Formats: sequence, C-alpha cells, structure tokens
Amino acid sequence: MSVEKVVVIGSGPAGLTAAIYAARAALEPLVFEGFSAGGLIPGGQLMYTTEVENYPGFADGITGPVLMKAFRDQAERFGTSYIREDVTEVDLSKRPFNVKSDEHTVQAHTLIIATGARANWLGLENEQRLAQSGGGVSACAVCDGAMPAYRDQELVVVGGGDSAIEEGSYLTKFASKVHIVHRRDELRASKAMQERFFKLVDEGKMQPQWNSIVVDVLGDKSITGVQLKDVKTDQVRELPCRGLFLAIGHTPNTELVKGKLDLDEKGYIRLPNPGSSYTSVEGVFAAGDVADHVYRQAVTAAGTGCMAAIDAERWLATQGIE
Ligand code: NAP
Repeated sequence: MSVEKVVVIGSGPAGLTAAIYAARAALEPLVFEGFSAGGLIPGGQLMYTTEVENYPGFADGITGPVLMKAFRDQAERFGTSYIREDVTEVDLSKRPFNVKSDEHTVQAHTLIIATGARANWLGLENEQRLAQSGGGVSACAVCDGAMPAYRDQELVVVGGGDSAIEEGSYLTKFASKVHIVHRRDELRASKAMQERFFKLVDEGKMQPQWNSIVVDVLGDKSITGVQLKDVKTDQVRELPCRGLFLAIGHTPNTELVKGKLDLDEKGYIRLPNPGSSYTSVEGVFAAGDVADHVYRQAVTAAGTGCMAAIDAERWLATQGIE
C-alpha cells in the first residue's frame, strides 16, 4: 500500500486551508471530508451559516456554502484529492499511521486533525427547523448577529457562561434589548464578564431571565418568540423576540482520537507548544476549532490550518520525505 504524505481529516476552513498549503508544497494531500449523516459535515460549520460578513476579502459578504466551495476548489486545483466519508478509526501507535473509513484504509506519514467542534443545541424541533431555514435561530452571535433583521429588536441568548455574556453584549450593539435566559439564578461567567453583564443590565440593554429554560421556539418562517419555563414554579410564559442565540457550550469532535492524543479537560486537542500545531504524537498536527475553544472563527481556523500544513511539511523534511 502506498503511503500518503499528508492526510487531512475534516473539510472546514482549517482542513481545506491545510490542504491548499500542503498541495502547493506538492505533498498531494488527501482529505477525508466527512459525510453529513451523523459525522463530520463536509465544509464544516459554515455550511450552516447563511451570510458570512466577517471573513476578510469579501466586502459584500458571502454565504457559508459558497465560501467553502471556493476553499475546496482551490485545494483541488493544486492537487488535493478527497474522500467523502467519515473516518471511523485511526491508529496513531506506529508510523505510518493507519486511517480507516467504511470503504477505505490508507496509511499516512502525517495527519492533520481538523475535525472541528459542534455547537451544543437545546434539541427542540422548532429550534432546529428555524436554525436550518435561517429563521433567526443561531449558535453564533458573532457570525450572525449583525444581520439587519436583528437591528432594534429584542433578542434572546441562552446560557450563563462567558460566551452567553460576551455574545449577548455584542448583540446589545444592534438589539433594542438582549434577554439572557439562564437555568439558574447565578452566572457561571467569570467575574469580569459578570461585571459587564450587570453594567448592561443597569443601562437597560440586557435583562436576565433567571431560573428559566426555553421549552419551545415560536414562529413559522421567522422566530417571533420563545416559550420559557420557570424551573422553580413550572410556570410557562412567552417572551417575544426576533432572534435566539444559543451559547450553551461546544463539543469538540475528538471521539476519534480520544485516548490516542492528549486532550484537555474539556476534550479539545492539547497543543503542547503554543503557537504551533504539534500535538502530543509526533507527525500528528491539529488545526481549527478541534484545538480552540476561545476564538472559534473561520479566519482563525484557516490560519491554524496554514500553520499545520507548514509544520507537517517541515516535519516531513526532517524525516527525509519530500
Ligand atoms: P460554559 O462555560 O460551559 O457555559 C455554558 C452555559 O450554558 C452554562 O451557564 C450552562 O449552565 C448553560 N447550559 C449548558 N447546557 C445547557 C442546557 N442544555 N440548557 C440550558 N443551559 C445550558 O461554555 P462557554 O460559555 O461557551 O465557555 C466555554 C469556555 O470558553 C469557558 O472556559 C469560558 O471561560 C471560555 N470563554 C471565554 C471567553 C472570554 O474570556 N472572553 C469568552 C467565551 C468563552 P450552568 O451554568 O447551569 O451549567
């Protein structure tokens, strides 16, 4: 069996940027793109985003799927090949590494893990329907919050951590008011973030809805409100709003490498040398949200994808593989 020089797992901005750089370095990368059904989404999380307005270079914005097709075409132009399957198993115990999907088994001198993370959702039927149809439900305020539809409207953010407060305060720039729906009456967010929250509450820009959970999302084509349940009294009430943003954490897609690479306490791939993409196993590199719970942006994922390809190329050179 021939051995691939670079195998990339994942095809979001991180994986495809790694492929572009590796392809241009004549390393003929092979990308396992994933397959939507239950596994990785080909194209990554941007495939769920309608308008992308913060990716540099697109003054008028671009849709997530169009942007990701351009990434893919660019990587392909320089010699990337693709397998549209989920990887089911990797063996990192010896080199070359073994990578398996349902229909393929390949060997790789280097592996770039760019499997991303998935936003956590409440799992309500109407939440999913309106999120998929662009009806005002999103798990990324920074990506979607600046849309005209949210200007001067009341918006809801669910969660009580740093993300909820950070995303909520970002939304106060556009919204008439941002309601923070939290299942307890105490925030998990850091002290500094709590101070920001209480200041915005004092200014009338934010309003807490304590001890409350969202039990339904209302609206046909676009959201018109949420149904909240008070967890102490079980009373259900309606809160009108034009946007719902989930900030209840992310889950990194690291099931494949659990027990094989060092992960942090939240399950993200640990990068022992900050500022590089090296993982705990020599020859395995990580890029994008799978190793980043802080920034989580397409442009930062693309940047780390570039780093991973350059790290892989240099590492291969040290092994005499070009
Ligand atoms: P997080 O800290 O895990 O907070 C998640 C929040 O969502 C919690 O308040 C949790 O409630 C709530 N939640 C979880 N599942 C829920 C459900 N099913 N229904 C309703 N509420 C639910 O996540 P995060 O805010 O995304 O932060 C992740 C990490 O990134 C943290 O380490 C954070 O400090 C960091 N971060 C830092 C910054 C910053 O410093 N600028 C910004 C963003 C994130 P409970 O509190 O009741 O568990």
